[in-house]
Amino acid sequence: MAETIEMDDRTIAIGKNHKLFDVERIRADFPILHQRIHGKPLAYLDNAATSQKPKVVIDAISHYYQAQNANIHRGVYYLSEVATQAYEQARECVRSFLNAASTEEIIFTRGATEGINLVAHSYGRRFIQQGDEVIITTMDHHSNIVPWQILCEEKGAQLRVVPIDDHGELMMDEYASLLSAKTKLVAFGHISNSLGTINPIEKIIQMAHQVGAVVVVDGAQAAPHTPIDVQALDVDFYAFSGHKVFGPTGIGALYGKEKWLDAMPPYQGGGDMIKSVTLEKTIYNDLPYKFEAGTPHISGGIAMAKALDYVGQIGYPQIEAYENDLLNCATEALQKVDGLRIVGTAQHKASVVSFVLESVHPHDVGTILDREGIAIRTGHHCTQPVMDRFHIPATSRASFAFYNTKEEIDRLVEALHKVVRMFQ
Ligand SMILES: *Cc1c(COP(=O)(O)O)cnc(C)c1O
Repeated sequence: MAETIEMDDRTIAIGKNHKLFDVERIRADFPILHQRIHGKPLAYLDNAATSQKPKVVIDAISHYYQAQNANIHRGVYYLSEVATQAYEQARECVRSFLNAASTEEIIFTRGATEGINLVAHSYGRRFIQQGDEVIITTMDHHSNIVPWQILCEEKGAQLRVVPIDDHGELMMDEYASLLSAKTKLVAFGHISNSLGTINPIEKIIQMAHQVGAVVVVDGAQAAPHTPIDVQALDVDFYAFSGHKVFGPTGIGALYGKEKWLDAMPPYQGGGDMIKSVTLEKTIYNDLPYKFEAGTPHISGGIAMAKALDYVGQIGYPQIEAYENDLLNCATEALQKVDGLRIVGTAQHKASVVSFVLESVHPHDVGTILDREGIAIRTGHHCTQPVMDRFHIPATSRASFAFYNTKEEIDRLVEALHKVVRMFQ
């Protein structure tokens, strides 16, 4: 006999076992969401810029400083051992999150930006030569453009760019034609933060490997929305940020294949990354510590692990289904707003909707929505080449997390109708 499940607007049944997604229960975990802004309930729709933190993450930071704080990897006393163990458990948690083969392949960083810069600086400086080619894409975040520009300029290498079409999808034919024996490195974003496009990552990696190039993936937008398996992807480097996946700012992780990390020189010099130092010669530490100079963001690593656990408990199939529902609902309703055009209409999209309103500047849209308690992002979203491609200076962007609701989307749409009326 079929199970019957009672549902209201706020719960949806997902999958074979009909696991219920109860958004109100999830919202209860996020203290910041329950406040009024300009007298209206906060609708936080800027999750692509940073995500909010569940209480378990906030509590982990507080608990660390109240009960565990000590410098790690050095002390022989109890607290230092506790802190070291908590930090190394967090690394194991990141390993499991990415399905990496070993914790030696997990380097804690300040975020995706630092992860990409680490690869450009260390792998790039050692292995990219004059005349080599590095491929990026038009839709990349500035964090995945500028480090490669700096590297190519320094080395006399060529930066090649995969263009995007009118929907905001990568032009895969163009990518194929850019690949050659000269291609040494391909770096691209898993999911676009300004367009929402989910790139065909397996295919891009496979094609790069066919010409012997290594692949660096900027996963800052993927971690909050979709599961990542670095072994299945066979990706060489994968970077993400804690703060986009419900963890703290100033912490993130970089996965790198052990064979590359072993062959790469250190990124920064200092304490913790050495085995022994004399004034004549330094012996570097083993992986992953070789790439972790100085006292790290210990509480950040521990709290980020809590965030990854939290996401894992909700489950990606549930998150993807619910967010897809939000995306479809928002896309449909926004298209009915007078003079509104969605920028980024790829077939496979994460829950990010960029749009422009005829004759209203995005900055004005954002300011008026703020008066309604609705937080969206306006500007170029650190993707100026995307704006140039669509011949616009900026967009307004609503980006949803699993704690957002259809009611918030209704309020967004209602507020936009109001904006249109104001500017008529
Ligand atoms: C946010 C973001 C980054 C930068 O991440 P930080 O944590 O700010 O360093 C890079 N790429 C994409 C796609 C992003 O969305």
